[in-house]
Amino acid sequence: MNKEQMIQSMTATMTKFTGYMGKRLPDDVTAKLRELREQEDTYLAKVVYDSMFENQALADQLDRPCCQDTGVIQYFVKAGAEFPLLSEVQGILRTAVLEATKIAPLRHNAVEIFKEKNTGTNTGERVPIINWEIVPNSKSIEIEVYMAGGGCSLPGQGKTLMPGEGYEGVVKYVFDVMTSYGVNACPPILVGIGIAGSIEVAAILSKKALFRPIGSRHHDPQGAQMELLLEKGLNDIGLGPQGLSGKNSVTGVHIESAARHPSTISVAISTGCWAHRRGTIRIDEDMSYEILSHKGVSL
Ligand code: SF4
Repeated sequence: MNKEQMIQSMTATMTKFTGYMGKRLPDDVTAKLRELREQEDTYLAKVVYDSMFENQALADQLDRPCCQDTGVIQYFVKAGAEFPLLSEVQGILRTAVLEATKIAPLRHNAVEIFKEKNTGTNTGERVPIINWEIVPNSKSIEIEVYMAGGGCSLPGQGKTLMPGEGYEGVVKYVFDVMTSYGVNACPPILVGIGIAGSIEVAAILSKKALFRPIGSRHHDPQGAQMELLLEKGLNDIGLGPQGLSGKNSVTGVHIESAARHPSTISVAISTGCWAHRRGTIRIDEDMSYEILSHKGVSL
């Protein structure tokens, strides 16, 4: 393949994957929803979970997005420093959004600031959002595609606490947020928490926490313990599927952290809904790809 053919190939792959993402939930989310359904013992809770599975089957059958809110498309990129199309990735992802919007189709969700005009293309100033990490000595690229809905992860919240508030302050903040706006997202909710020394770092970590496989744990045993305790506390509220009550409120709680300044502790929260549309794809230097989030799928 020459360079032009490689660009065309990657654009086609990312267009199809971006559209596909809006229709099918990743394997771990589906498995967790099935597990939570089994734990319910009321007709109402079970029937709400069943409607989610029916929604997935119909989205498949009719080839349509599984929620009307296709969100703002965000790409979190881990790019190998030696990936051959490094300079082209930004343009490729923008074209992929433009094309997927027409083909999938995806609802138009990009409104230019101050002009207050919907561009009608899902692209706009700095949109699609692209977050970069460079991986040394690698020739491949791994891209996390996320549809951030207006009711779930877009209205994230954050606060820098006084250092004396400590981890108790973090827990209190999480419960304050989750018992107020948290139910804007259609439950059960995936809760991403970032803890760091400043608000912008905590905010981006809270979003990255949503990309971890459900059930994975923080690398520090105390972080893992905090995730489990928060999960238990939030489940005890008993939101249930779609907030109609049940044994659980969350599909999981994930914490990501960065070292902090001695005088600050910042916490941020992003939430994912039951229709947690994220997908991971790895593209190698020869433009072959593997979808890591949806096993056995080819585009
Ligand atoms: S919270 Fe999720 S499932 Fe509910 S409307 Fe928004 S994107 Fe759709």
